[in-house]
Amino acid sequence: MQALPEGPYSYAPRCEVCDERAALTEDRARTLVAASGERLTSYSCPIELSIWHVWYPAAEHAKQGPTP
Ligand SMILES: [Zn+2]
Repeated sequence: MQALPEGPYSYAPRCEVCDERAALTEDRARTLVAASGERLTSYSCPIELSIWHVWYPAAEHAKQGPTP
């Protein structure tokens, strides 16, 4: 897979198997979680274990989210 850019979240490549979530590095995901005041949650992609996603449980819990 290609290298992940470290640019803004909106420029991150999308993960096709995870509902078009942004594909992030672990560091980038962690930074976003910290910047959100821990409202976001990060998890590693179940398909591409080297990439990470963030999601917002409070806003997305009605939709299908990752299972812990
Ligand atoms: Zn994914």
